[in-house]
Amino acid sequence: KPKAIIIGTGIAGIASAIRMTVKGYEVEVFEANAYAGGKLAEINLDGFRFDAGPSLFTMPQYVDELFKLAGKNPQDYFQYEALDEICRYFYEDGLKLTAHADLNKFADEIEQKTNSSANEVHQFLNKSKIIYGVTHKVFLERSLHRIKSYLHWDTLKSVFRFGQIDAFRTQAKANKSFFNDERVAQLFNRYATYNGSNPYQAPATLNVIPHFEYHFGAFIPKKGMYSITTSLLKLAEELGVKFHFNTKVEEIMGTVEGRELRAQGIRYKNQIQNADIIISNLDIWFTYKNLLKNFPAPKKLLQQERSSSALIFYWGIKGNYPELGLHNILFAENYHTEFNAIWKDKTIDHDPTVYINITSKHIKTDAPDGCENWFVMINVPANNGQQWNELILEARRNILNKISRVLGKEIEKNIVCEQILDPRSIESKTGSYQGSLYGNSSNNQFSAFLRHPNFSSKIKGLYFCGGSVHPGGGIPLALLSAKIIDQDF
Ligand code: FAD
Repeated sequence: KPKAIIIGTGIAGIASAIRMTVKGYEVEVFEANAYAGGKLAEINLDGFRFDAGPSLFTMPQYVDELFKLAGKNPQDYFQYEALDEICRYFYEDGLKLTAHADLNKFADEIEQKTNSSANEVHQFLNKSKIIYGVTHKVFLERSLHRIKSYLHWDTLKSVFRFGQIDAFRTQAKANKSFFNDERVAQLFNRYATYNGSNPYQAPATLNVIPHFEYHFGAFIPKKGMYSITTSLLKLAEELGVKFHFNTKVEEIMGTVEGRELRAQGIRYKNQIQNADIIISNLDIWFTYKNLLKNFPAPKKLLQQERSSSALIFYWGIKGNYPELGLHNILFAENYHTEFNAIWKDKTIDHDPTVYINITSKHIKTDAPDGCENWFVMINVPANNGQQWNELILEARRNILNKISRVLGKEIEKNIVCEQILDPRSIESKTGSYQGSLYGNSSNNQFSAFLRHPNFSSKIKGLYFCGGSVHPGGGIPLALLSAKIIDQDF
């Protein structure tokens, strides 16, 4: 059997392990941590369970597909349900909006409560659908960097329709033209943050993201986000994939074959293991800096601006808060100021947008009786050596003040346990350079073309998957990176 080595058990690493096994490879996976999942991990604290990273689940079909590929019934391993309510939005002026999965209901709610019409929402989401139609075959499901991708008729058709993807104005500018009410524009501007970008700089092409939620739906895994990791891990183990935890890979080794460089194996704990192909699931920045030290690195790519990071408070909270749902956003009063703080000043504004995710609303076992598990997150800049300890203290105060202003609740006294994740710990726990959540930012119209390809053009047999390479960050795109590699075999 040919052999594949995969470095990292992020979601794309596990997906690649499953795919290569199905292709007939013997697969071994090496993971630096004691646990699988990378960013898609969990935290257990004093009777509370928290998903450590991702909280919003879209495009579950990409997970199901992996079970089907292996000839299994997905529901025997992994169950999820569609959400009727996607998110609750709270504004400083007292406006509350509920984003219903039922589009007409959502559009009517906006018409009733704001100065925007239902028609504006429909027109916007129609544009979102058009952008998806043009981009998904070219940018998302195939390699942008292989000639053969362009030999498909549907790819070519998409290339001819590039004018429709709204790449030459910013998302914020586009949304201002779509919506009469700036609070509704703000609601849709937030989607830039789904890949760690700034709506005041990123192209309006990112308006494709709402299509994922409002067309395909938003979901919750019945056992929490971490069950995406554990169920795929179970499948991979059943297929015979061998996992080595607590095993940090130190080097990818190459050999010269004729006039070609070829990936030969890896070095870890002073051992060497050879393989026919190697797939690195690490952040591409660290793959070059640490594992490919003896090979030339693509300098431009490594110098690009990183996506934003996050500051998260995992709070076990006494009491029940019916005004909150599974996903809640407490918007900053001045969104532009908040993004200027993150992107220009590389700091945290005094009035950040606060995201509160409470899985115990759906999964009762995630918190003890009479309690809720609050995952409270704000967007922050990637780590450039800021004074994080001071910034965190100040942000915590500002978040608590905001909750008290917007929800009218003093919750500090009800916090029974707390854990904190910041850009430094995101880097140390998941190997993400500067703690950025999604690799490089998408703050300019060429960023999709500037992401690293899923293969090495210099070293044969070396591949890259995960949120820092093509097609991008987030669970669905990370899973697609594994699927794109699969197309080479
Ligand atoms: P990663 O999760 O980055 O894992 C890489 C793995 O490689 C890690 O396990 C690491 O330990 C391992 N590794 C590193 N170096 C080595 C080495 N030398 N040797 C061996 N192993 C090594 N996405 C969504 O879809 N929805 C969301 O709501 C969402 N919210 C997020 C919130 C937060 C706080 C974070 C952090 C991320 C969020 N994301 C979200 C993004 C999503 O989590 C990532 O895009 C995705 O999980 C990345 O997966 P990956 O395959 O790139 O691997």
